[in-house]
Amino acid sequence: MDFNDIIGHEKIIESLKNAIRNNLVSHSYLFEGPKSIGKEKIARVFAKTLLCQKGGDSPCNTCPSCLKIESGNHPDFHVEYPDKDSFKKEQIEELQRTIRKIPLESNKKIYILDDVDKMTQQAQNSFLKTLEEPPGYAVIILLATNGYSLLPTIVSRCQVVKFTSVEKHKIEKALINIYNRTEEQARFISSFSNGIIGRAIELSKSDDFKLLRDETIEKLNIVINGDKLKAFSVSEFFEQNKELIDEIMDIILLWYRDLLIYKETGNIDFLINRDKTDLISCQCQKLSKQKIMDIIDVVNRTKDDIRSNVSFQLAMEVMLLKIQEV
Ligand SMILES: [Zn+2]
Repeated sequence: MDFNDIIGHEKIIESLKNAIRNNLVSHSYLFEGPKSIGKEKIARVFAKTLLCQKGGDSPCNTCPSCLKIESGNHPDFHVEYPDKDSFKKEQIEELQRTIRKIPLESNKKIYILDDVDKMTQQAQNSFLKTLEEPPGYAVIILLATNGYSLLPTIVSRCQVVKFTSVEKHKIEKALINIYNRTEEQARFISSFSNGIIGRAIELSKSDDFKLLRDETIEKLNIVINGDKLKAFSVSEFFEQNKELIDEIMDIILLWYRDLLIYKETGNIDFLINRDKTDLISCQCQKLSKQKIMDIIDVVNRTKDDIRSNVSFQLAMEVMLLKIQEV
């Protein structure tokens, strides 16, 4: 793993490399951004570079230190995860004991703490002491989805690095070139994953996801064509895939987004579901622009209903009926 293997985040990588080149590496970092956006990958490559015996601004990947990191047994490199659902005080105290022992094989000792959002208040108070007076050789990298869950005194001790979505065209290119997806698959997945690169890669490897998307679109077609009885049979599909409802709802929204765009422009270049152009064109003939917009509205409202714990089955049935009626 190297900086070159990271998709997107060029500015962040450049600023980390700059810090290394100018000898301005901070003692503590807070990498903040959505899950699967690439925080841990970059943290690992950064750590590897800092420990690399060649001393460049990228890891050499051949020295004993780089090889030990790759195989997961470098004594000066530690990655900590929450114990079950949270970082507890005892875990932080253990870290504080080990961080005081000088590095064994290099002049640095690196700690990555993943999911620090899950650090208890007590643990944070205890951890603050380490951040206030870190040993000179230590570099601590905290990974968090949301820095708000941390004490302001912790955040202010860290150099904060904010991770944002990776551009869609970069994700598409990677899915095609590295993960052997077709242009159409890459286009759908990159739109669906909203710039979360880890999620895009995971989805592109999953046959189940492809199946789920095909099936969802097929069910929508039944709803648009069928009678009320059939709509209820479709609701069974939702019940069976209840745990995937967030994905299903997003598939539905992207579908109607495509219908709206096709209705407006008649241009297939802007479609996300470009492999289903025939079906899109066919449904467009049946639905007016206003109807499509009403459906999008209904789907968005149903998403809210599901989140606010309205009965799942009821929410879905109401949605399907409304899609048929609008
Ligand atoms: Zn090296």
